[in-house]
Amino acid sequence: MNKNNIVFRVQNYNKVSFGALLGACSEELLSHLKIIIWEGTGPIPPEALNGRTLLVYSFMMAHVKSVESEILQLKSQFSESAVEAFFISGGAHVTATPESITAMGFDLAVCGESEEFFPEFLAKWLEKCPPRGIVKIEPGKVDLNLYPGFHRLTNYLPPVEISRGCKWGCSYCAVPRLYHGTLRYRSVESILSIARQYFQIQPSRRRIKFLSSNSFGYGSEDGRKPNISALKELMLGLRSEGVTEISFGSFPSEVRPDFVTEEVMETIRPFLTNDTIVMGIQTGNDKRLAAMGRGHDRETAVRAVEMLKKYRFRAHVDFIIGLPHEKQDEQDDLLTFMEELVHKYNVKVHMHTFMPLPATPWENQLSSVISANARRRLKALAASNNLDGWWENQIHYGRKKT
Ligand code: SF4
Repeated sequence: MNKNNIVFRVQNYNKVSFGALLGACSEELLSHLKIIIWEGTGPIPPEALNGRTLLVYSFMMAHVKSVESEILQLKSQFSESAVEAFFISGGAHVTATPESITAMGFDLAVCGESEEFFPEFLAKWLEKCPPRGIVKIEPGKVDLNLYPGFHRLTNYLPPVEISRGCKWGCSYCAVPRLYHGTLRYRSVESILSIARQYFQIQPSRRRIKFLSSNSFGYGSEDGRKPNISALKELMLGLRSEGVTEISFGSFPSEVRPDFVTEEVMETIRPFLTNDTIVMGIQTGNDKRLAAMGRGHDRETAVRAVEMLKKYRFRAHVDFIIGLPHEKQDEQDDLLTFMEELVHKYNVKVHMHTFMPLPATPWENQLSSVISANARRRLKALAASNNLDGWWENQIHYGRKKT
């Protein structure tokens, strides 16, 4: 029987999504497909042009232009080869702006979490009756414990997703909107089972990393205060599974400053091998923190940085410059605040320029111009290796409506 092709358009930023999709499919279903992983900047693998082909994309706002021109080129390639091709895309950007995705030439835009939908869609595509247009999946329903979040075929064992969603509502952030303000956790049992499988697949592996918008909030019932017993259970479980390198609260996870407490530190520090914690502060201006709905103030943030240093962690802190209507003197204050944190607590700054993300309360806001003085000071911090991030590239997206 001729197999149908499925091409995953893999980039560094979407490996996790494709592993999760494949991991959600049964081996029986996948046995009907020739799976092609197309990674990097080279041309599409030639075998994809040889048979009926499904092309799967997931991308973010910053990649729209490059994906659009790639789709155009592929459509003409498939048409010249007289091969039937179906283009499907999902992910956060698609969920926020599905109409723009079908306008780019995709046959189907999938809004929402796809673990349940994707296997059903594949079965329909194999039967040659796939849905077209836009599919909207009810948000916040997927039970993480039913899906491993990876598949060995992608040759990538991602950080284990221990939570999904967020109970906070920061005005610039897409996470609470994507998941309708829900917050779900993967159980300790499920996390340990994935760790066990990783060690089976890669026997020399020692380290397990995690994915969460607030690692220190693992198991928190209301998402507002730490759950010490859940953190303890997770740490003891990982140790009993033989995980000798537990990297928790570091990239690609983050933590909130109000969850960096003495009790949390005492609970997790003895288990962790990472020396960096990624934390969001965003700005040092209390009025702006309140306006963006962060739910903590500057003092709490400074206390968290102090606490991390006391427990021998280097804080890698997210900040945003160019917030809507931000004045030059506020930018000067922000730079002074960041420089103080760098010099006093050895903080490393992860710098962002404000970008109006679709479907967020601030989607129609523009970023403020970053003053020449602020740019000079940001570059000085970067030159001394105390600042990283894509803030310069993001300037273009923050001003896109001008
Ligand atoms: S920035 Fe963090 S805390 Fe705020 S809404 Fe987004 S995920 Fe939640």
